[in-house]
Amino acid sequence: MGKHILLLGAPGAGKGTQSKRLASEFDLEHVTTGDALRANKDMDISDMDFEYDTPREYMESGDLVPDDVVNEIVKTALQEADGYVLDGYPRNIEQAEYLTEITDLDAVLYLDVSEEELVERLTGRRVCDDCGANYHVEFAPPEEDGVCDECGGELIQRDDDTEETVRERLTVYHKNTEPVVNHYRDEGVLVEIDGEQTPDGVFDDVAEVVEDA
Ligand SMILES: [Zn+2]
Repeated sequence: MGKHILLLGAPGAGKGTQSKRLASEFDLEHVTTGDALRANKDMDISDMDFEYDTPREYMESGDLVPDDVVNEIVKTALQEADGYVLDGYPRNIEQAEYLTEITDLDAVLYLDVSEEELVERLTGRRVCDDCGANYHVEFAPPEEDGVCDECGGELIQRDDDTEETVRERLTVYHKNTEPVVNHYRDEGVLVEIDGEQTPDGVFDDVAEVVEDA
């Protein structure tokens, strides 16, 4: 049976990158809340007594999908996976408690990155206005400042990546998700990884934990 891995970390800590690589090298399913939602858009939730009968209606109306619906969808995604890396869930302590009810985790990893490093990573992102290619002013710069290598388009900073928005996102993260990190730390199952190494360095540490899990 495949392993059950939970990867925790702030926005910009490298969860997505590390999860994808873990999934491919250990033959696990990469489960994110967003992907799970998209895959189960038409799930019948009419018996849950909410405003809408399917997740799709929430997504199309722009309304926030209720926690109970997200929980149900994550449960379905985890049950269908033969081994998984869960990324971006649980976001709060209630979801963490729910997760304990529905599955057994083999390892819980936390990518530890300082606030200042997170801000630098997140505010340095640039995206091509024409083709959507991604750059970073420090870690993946284009050949010419502000110009896309792929298509010559203009590189812009998305509203999400301005310092003000980034600091807000990190504040929300600290408020909701730090209790989740502390919850697993208190249970004695949290493995902290130095997330400020190179991506390869981080992966070596992560892989070592997963191999032994
Ligand atoms: Zn481009």
